[in-house]
Amino acid sequence: MNAIDWSAEGRTCIDLLRDLIRIPTINRGTRDEGDGNERPAAERVAEHLRAAGIEPKLFEKQKNRTNVVARVRGTGEKPPLLLNAHLDVVEADASRWKHDPFGGEIHDGYVWGRGAIDMKHMAAMSACVMALVARDAREGKKLSRDLIFAAVADEESGCELGSLFLADEHADEVRAEYMLGEIGAFSLHLFGRTFYPIQVAEKGVCWVRATYEASPGHGSMPDPDSAVVRLAKAISRLGRRRLPMHPTAVVTQFIHGLARELPRPQQQVLKRLTTPQVAALILDYLVRDPGQRRSFGAMLSNTASPTVVRAGSKVNVIPGRASVDIDGRTLPGQSEGAFLAELREALGGDPRLEVLRSLPPVEASSQTPLFDCLAEVVKRNDPMGHPLPYLIPGFTDAKAYARLGTTCYGFAPVKFDPTAPTGEPVSFTQMYHGHDERVPVDGLVWGLRVLYEAVTTFCV
Ligand SMILES: [Zn+2]
Repeated sequence: MNAIDWSAEGRTCIDLLRDLIRIPTINRGTRDEGDGNERPAAERVAEHLRAAGIEPKLFEKQKNRTNVVARVRGTGEKPPLLLNAHLDVVEADASRWKHDPFGGEIHDGYVWGRGAIDMKHMAAMSACVMALVARDAREGKKLSRDLIFAAVADEESGCELGSLFLADEHADEVRAEYMLGEIGAFSLHLFGRTFYPIQVAEKGVCWVRATYEASPGHGSMPDPDSAVVRLAKAISRLGRRRLPMHPTAVVTQFIHGLARELPRPQQQVLKRLTTPQVAALILDYLVRDPGQRRSFGAMLSNTASPTVVRAGSKVNVIPGRASVDIDGRTLPGQSEGAFLAELREALGGDPRLEVLRSLPPVEASSQTPLFDCLAEVVKRNDPMGHPLPYLIPGFTDAKAYARLGTTCYGFAPVKFDPTAPTGEPVSFTQMYHGHDERVPVDGLVWGLRVLYEAVTTFCV
């Protein structure tokens, strides 16, 4: 390991990341020609791999929605380990950014741009780790497992043209015992301590349309029980209520892990969040930071966000129907039926509920040799850091690989410095889909080393 020149490898990784940011792979989910267009980014990754003596394969379910898969063979003693990153990004409104979101510029010690942490940084780090592992193999130091790398399309619109396509139609290319990908191993600075959440679980998706029907009528004679009024009341009720609390084992472990490091008064408050009977009260009255309140809230219950409202088309006609689309997210252990019952109760007024899309939650055990190894490598590289298993409220490519029986963890290491000398302090969570997304140059080089050490320590 001493033979590696980390500053040179870090520069290579940063250059690759900057190139990838300059390729706008914006995924609006329209499925139109030109949407996403991951092909040039996939080719840039493939070029990096080829230069390292690795022959990648390209797969497309739809033209220009390209996925790259590559493999460095190990001794075959144990089943493969997969690294995964998505190449597509969400939109960026350049007028709200300090620097060009597709410029890949370096300012104040950060690489700026859409995808800097979601998650072209992981694509760049993984490609560089592949190159290092291939070099090790040529020098006779083969890993005990094949190392596979998938750089995929279409994560931001539900993975259909990316990881789900690979898992369903090219399973042999990506089948692995373990996967490392989004989201985890970023430094989280809370209450003056440093934590490294490692994703082991993610919520399920249950998108629902709730429709209210009532008699239509003339706008000149108001009806207090019209479909629109009933819908408005239901949305307002849903906005004020929390769905019931169901602290899962992973969330309890995460919250108790945070609490352990805190002074006594805060420790007591935090620990009570895992008691269902009082969790809502604690959240509403004792967790003061609104960001923390929302984020703990999403970990502790199923959630339902009203997003798209539809009713009426003419100002003088009271419509007979009004509906709202609801972005529902379900905790591991919660069935779709149980969620729909909670939703119905929260909305009131007996709507017709129609499930538009449903994906199950994913949960992996944190009692595995790989999890222990990841935690140990993080601690080795930041002795003040506390790795913790973590549940994310969103969804990632882990949903696809979990179908193949793969144990998936979020591990795309980056270290943020809360006392950075230039600019304001920056955190991972505020960068996510936000304006001014950026990744610290030093923190990424740190991450590259951590990822390489994790892979090589685990696959001896
Ligand atoms: Zn992402």
